[in-house]
Amino acid sequence: MICEILSVGTELLMGQIANTDAQYLSRKLSQMGITVYRHSVVGDNPDRLREAVKTALSRCDLLITSGGLGPTEDDITKEIVCEVMGFPLALHEESKEAIEAFFARVGREMTPNNLRQAMQPVGGIVMRNRKGTAPGCIVEKDGKIAAVLPGPPRELSGMFEDQLEPYLLQKTGLTFFSEYLRIVGVGESKVEAVLEDLFHSADPTLALYCAPGEVQARITAACRRGEDGSQKTAPVKKEIYRRLGNSVYAEGEDASMAATLLDMMRSRGMKLALAESCTGGLLASKLVALSGASDVLLASLVTYANSAKEALLGVPSTILNTCGAVSSECALAMARGAREKTGADCAISVTGIAGPGGGTPEKPVGTVYVGLSGPFGDKWERLSLTGDRTHIREVTCLYAMNLMRLAILSPDQ
Ligand code: ATP
Repeated sequence: MICEILSVGTELLMGQIANTDAQYLSRKLSQMGITVYRHSVVGDNPDRLREAVKTALSRCDLLITSGGLGPTEDDITKEIVCEVMGFPLALHEESKEAIEAFFARVGREMTPNNLRQAMQPVGGIVMRNRKGTAPGCIVEKDGKIAAVLPGPPRELSGMFEDQLEPYLLQKTGLTFFSEYLRIVGVGESKVEAVLEDLFHSADPTLALYCAPGEVQARITAACRRGEDGSQKTAPVKKEIYRRLGNSVYAEGEDASMAATLLDMMRSRGMKLALAESCTGGLLASKLVALSGASDVLLASLVTYANSAKEALLGVPSTILNTCGAVSSECALAMARGAREKTGADCAISVTGIAGPGGGTPEKPVGTVYVGLSGPFGDKWERLSLTGDRTHIREVTCLYAMNLMRLAILSPDQ
């Protein structure tokens, strides 16, 4: 099924808002195996909108519009799409009642033009709007489908997931089963090269997405009713693990490094302490954001100034004076100090230059030392990161947690 997305709204053309509706729809449709050939944007002008609808329908099987379903005179998307598709509009009682109930619920007065939103195509499917007043609709004729959705993103996604998605899945006769693998410590181009041949498969498909400091691999299988998608994705998943080993740190779209590390330490009965300089508590915050962090995390000592590193972690002044705060020696002393002061089994320390100022030729912005102390001994690693201050601090947290994960998994390396 070939799809085009037509977004309606002068504010999109004027750059006042970004077309996140089209982005959302494209992402959802591609997960369903529906190919999106074009995104277009048109203002609230009837002639240009009519022409855009006709042109799109001449090229595709499925046209999805967003926006222009409001009660005012310039909201004309439904009228024009139904006119081009040859569906007359009539008052739809259920929509009228839903709109009246909506206004009663929010305590606002309904104006007569709100009833325009209850005019719906005769012979079409009306899609209710749980988050607003404007219903959407689907009209289908001569092998062409047009679906009309509201513009506000919450309303659009709600209606899509409630009603259009099941309708389209039933049309394609398929459901899609996806698995996500989270990969850290290997750049996107390297992952792409290592998995190259796996991208040629049409079913299951493999796609990569980049997030700060990591790569996500999505394996998607198209399934007929009753078919077990996990059986189709399993061989590809196994192959990715075989090629990338411990670089795959978790499975699942919502997985995170913090949750992975917490689970791992919890299951081993290990306690963790942190000593943070350039991350200033961000690392602790990522762990504490997860319920049950107290099973593992004992403390995080945010020691920004040298004096705090000395006083709270016992970093010797000789290290600070001779090697500097951003050094492997300091990172090691911080990690050891955090472990000793708290009695934790393991400690992670972080000290670095997040920028934009403070870099030198030997230690440019993005130089970060991570120290680890634990039953595996004491270790350190120098990171050379790029990007702005926020990015450097984010990626530092991810890599620091990953280094602890790897040290626990492979204590002898
Ligand atoms: P309403 O009933 O609120 O008038 P509508 O379906 O007529 O909804 P529009 O009037 O086109 O939608 O847009 C309403 C608001 O929804 C916009 O001001 C904007 O904030 C948001 N919106 C519209 N289209 C998009 C889009 N393509 N991407 C992101 N946001 C959008």
